[in-house]
Amino acid sequence: MPDLQNAEIRWLESGQPYSEKFSDTYYSNQGGLEEGHHVFVRANSLEPRWKQCASGDSTFTIAELGFGSGLNFILCWQLWQQLQPSRARLHYLAFEKFPLKKQDLQQALCQWPQLEEFSRTLLLYYPDHSSGIQRICFNQQLTLDLYFGDVKESLGQRYRNPLNGIDCWFLDGFNPKHNPSMWDHELTQLMFAHSAPSATLSTYSAAGQVRRNLSAAGFSVGKRPGFGSKREMLVARKNETPDLEKLSPIEKEERPAWFRLPTRRNNHRTAIVVGAGLAGCSTAFSLARRGWKVTLIDQGEGIASGASGNKQAVLQCRLAANLSPISRFYLQGFLFSHRQLNQLTQRHPLNWDNCGVLMLAGPLHSKLTRLMEQPGKFYSTRVVSPCDQRQASDLAKVKLSADALWLPHGGWLDPVALCAAYLGEKVGHPIKRLSNTQADSLRQINDGWQVLNKNSTLAEAEVVVLANGIDAASFAQTASLPLIPVRGQVSQIDSNERSKHLEAVVVSDRYICPAVDDSHCIGASYGANETDCEPRLVDDQENLERIRSVFQNPDLLNEEVVKSRAAVRCNTADYIPVVGAMPDEHCFKKEFAGLARNARSPQTQAGTYLPGLFINTGHGSYGLTSCPLSAEFLASLINNENLPLPVNIMESLSPCRFIIRNLKKQKPDGLRKSAIVES
Ligand code: SAM
Repeated sequence: MPDLQNAEIRWLESGQPYSEKFSDTYYSNQGGLEEGHHVFVRANSLEPRWKQCASGDSTFTIAELGFGSGLNFILCWQLWQQLQPSRARLHYLAFEKFPLKKQDLQQALCQWPQLEEFSRTLLLYYPDHSSGIQRICFNQQLTLDLYFGDVKESLGQRYRNPLNGIDCWFLDGFNPKHNPSMWDHELTQLMFAHSAPSATLSTYSAAGQVRRNLSAAGFSVGKRPGFGSKREMLVARKNETPDLEKLSPIEKEERPAWFRLPTRRNNHRTAIVVGAGLAGCSTAFSLARRGWKVTLIDQGEGIASGASGNKQAVLQCRLAANLSPISRFYLQGFLFSHRQLNQLTQRHPLNWDNCGVLMLAGPLHSKLTRLMEQPGKFYSTRVVSPCDQRQASDLAKVKLSADALWLPHGGWLDPVALCAAYLGEKVGHPIKRLSNTQADSLRQINDGWQVLNKNSTLAEAEVVVLANGIDAASFAQTASLPLIPVRGQVSQIDSNERSKHLEAVVVSDRYICPAVDDSHCIGASYGANETDCEPRLVDDQENLERIRSVFQNPDLLNEEVVKSRAAVRCNTADYIPVVGAMPDEHCFKKEFAGLARNARSPQTQAGTYLPGLFINTGHGSYGLTSCPLSAEFLASLINNENLPLPVNIMESLSPCRFIIRNLKKQKPDGLRKSAIVES
């Protein structure tokens, strides 16, 4: 899988960006701003449409094919801000195969000083290096999803929810003569399938082939006067009366039947999140900022009392030597967390230190280093770059014992402060907390769930999200989830004159963070299937011994552990988090019984899910990397919004994967939990 290719820009004398590859300019030489207003904003009647939806609670989705310099996005953002909708949201999906490098984007946008306020903020978070969906949440009312990669592949992997089609398309690919695949029939068919019933579309092009492809896909196409010297341009509409049959819970598409999710029709927008660690607090935050009333239940006294409660937690990417949906998930999650932390840290004291992470030695390291040496392959060198021992030592500011991989987006923070920030954000309704409260069962009621303790109801809501680590499988409805407890002990040592110079997180099979309050955290031991949280001397010794080997000077660190903390993390049988809607196991087994006889037998009937029950757990040692994006994904799924994950990643995280795999392997029930399932 090639790394993302950036656009090669030639700058014209007029200051316009020009693409040699496509022999075309990014916008009209007669005025980019005016062209954007004429061809896209006005042709789609955005102002009157937004005035209409401004007072409601809806989301308006624009999809732009060809993000380029982001000018159209900024024009929409400016107009949206002028109209100041009270609760409505603008969700802008931008598809781009060759993103401009950040410095080129900056150069392009500085032509428009009147848009400086918007350009500056976009540039702050614009990622120009990694494929996949890069979600930027600017505020509660504006989200940008940059789909970096080929438009057909990206759109083909977009999850289609019949309640949330695209309202408006901007077709802004380069000249169809030079870039036909951005205008062809296959693409227009995909667009039609992803459109809302009354979607509109516009493009500067008036090419006959484009018009025919749009008509053949089902759009009603018309012509309008074009911009500047262009005589004509095209506008189109889906014009489909919503067919209630089509809004049935089942998506008609080619995914395996068991992954078809029912469409939730949320009414009350109330949710109970069980578990106040990173997974639970981030989920509560993501729901609350969408206007949901959230009750957060935890058996502990404070927040992050379990595995998320160490003094320093590391943000690092879980690297893999092959690009699979899961390695993509971790890369997307890593970059999403980095952006979210940079935003939250402006308002909350997180102790977020974006100091970078150095990953040393190990078999994965040498494999990755070899892969990274092939230009244009795998992770961008702006995200992961190999460095020799001397360079690594220069970055760490202390001498290291081996070569390393450098991850500049990584760092460490105080996870308890992060959880407090999630709960303290002034968004929507305040999150109600029930602490010292153990949820021990769930009862399905007419339009939702009751969460109970010893048969007495603690809370009732339309949706329940179980984010309570290993205990997420302690309910009758979730008992089959193969969650594995993993004991991890973190040791704290005082810093000294030598170690206080350490300026980056260093990771081998243990990690050490730069000093905070004159001490370093070293973590973490790994005890699969162990649940005892009493600190052990032997684990402290092992932590120290192993981390010492990353430094050239064996005496760099103090010998004495001043504090130890053990907690249970939650892993899964395939070491991948479980995030998504909870299937009804009993029905699933009946519905897909055919797979036990023949794993390849075609299954057309959708599976039954427990309506309103969701899971978010199994984040293991990578919670800081995977929780923020998982929470954003779940909240988007629950709220019927555009999702920040492509379908193949959703499927890899889905709680139903275990039932299906076991059926395919004809596993008797008793073996189910101990089975290590291949990913
Ligand atoms: N709307 C942009 C703006 O406001 O600056 C200008 C877009 S420019 C005319 C066309 C864009 O389409 C380029 O940025 C180009 O890299 C992108 N593009 C070309 N082929 C593509 C493909 N197959 N998938 C996604 N994007 C593509």
